[in-house]
Amino acid sequence: MKAAVVHSFTAPLTVEDRPVPEPGPHQVLVRIEASGLCHTDIHAAHGDWPVKPAPPFVPGHEGVGIVEAAGSEVRHVRVGRRVAIPWLADACGRCDHCVSGWETLCLQQHNSGYSVDGAYAEYALAHGDYVVPVPDGVDPMDAAPLSCAGVTTYKAVKLSGARPGTRVLVSGIGGLGHLALQYARIFGAETVAVDITDDKLALAGELGADHVIDARTQDVAAEVQRLGGADAAVSLAVSNASFRAAYDALRRGGTLVLVALPAEGVLELPVFDTVLNGTKVVGSIVGTRQDLAEVFRLHQLGRTRVIRESRQLDEVNRCFEEVLAGKVTARLVFDLR
Ligand code: NAD
Ligand code: ZN
Ligand code: ZN
Repeated sequence: MKAAVVHSFTAPLTVEDRPVPEPGPHQVLVRIEASGLCHTDIHAAHGDWPVKPAPPFVPGHEGVGIVEAAGSEVRHVRVGRRVAIPWLADACGRCDHCVSGWETLCLQQHNSGYSVDGAYAEYALAHGDYVVPVPDGVDPMDAAPLSCAGVTTYKAVKLSGARPGTRVLVSGIGGLGHLALQYARIFGAETVAVDITDDKLALAGELGADHVIDARTQDVAAEVQRLGGADAAVSLAVSNASFRAAYDALRRGGTLVLVALPAEGVLELPVFDTVLNGTKVVGSIVGTRQDLAEVFRLHQLGRTRVIRESRQLDEVNRCFEEVLAGKVTARLVFDLR
């Protein structure tokens, strides 16, 4: 099978031929149809974060495909089913986080395309209990970005407290942000979209943002404060400066939801202002299997639009360049059919 492999944090990926893996007792073998390119895959391939993956590894955690074989202990999915392989490859299933609906915080979790091989390949192994069924009528090329960009922003918007009467700032209208904006609207909030490229600002308008701010030429915090400030801001831009701008755009009692993970990401906060303003700052990491099921359901009902372009896996290195250069309108998805 064809797979894109990271051998070093400083070299391009190589697309190579590897044997099709055999599923263990709890695993399924998935024939990948669509595999989304999340900015996290670039951080993984570059070793950007304090906890690094161990090369060689296959990136990819927006994998969607058909179960082709299942191990003897797999109970919940059958051969022939379309499933998604998200970032949460598996978790212990028993700790307090796992049993209280916070499996994404499990200390024993594995992560697809990071600590275990992911979906930049024609086939991938996954845990039978942690793949998420993709409902009929959801295009696999849409399901792929929903499996990380969708579920992550759906969860982050839930945590933001967005509801009718609130104003929510979405910082960064990329793969994640274009979906965050749609979820904030679904939750009933007035929306403010911020980006630094013309096509993303135009996309935000098309997707119904109530206000669009160009961070290249406008002072984000001042513009949002002119509107009355944001009740919540969701930080999805791979830029340290954008975090502080989002924080400064909040009104009293507001919530900053941190999601983007730039290399050496740092946010310095004034304690005095944070205390007196009653500001909340929360980190948000992907979402659970249940969150992803809800994301798929919303899409099946026609409530969300996935903006994406298809690419071939052989183009992976060029695709990374395109994302880093800000040339991708929202999401790139490898079509492996
Ligand atoms: P992306 O490259 O598709 O989108 C980033 C967007 O931010 C782009 O549209 C870019 O133009 C915009 N941007 C850059 N600088 C900006 C600025 N100063 N102000 C406003 N916008 C700016 O990336 P993505 O795939 O959407 O991922 C975004 C980040 O989220 C990455 O760091 C990724 O690793 C992280 N991520 C986190 C989680 C999580 O669970 N916390 C999950 C997935 C991705
Ligand atoms: Zn991701
Ligand atoms: Zn656990």
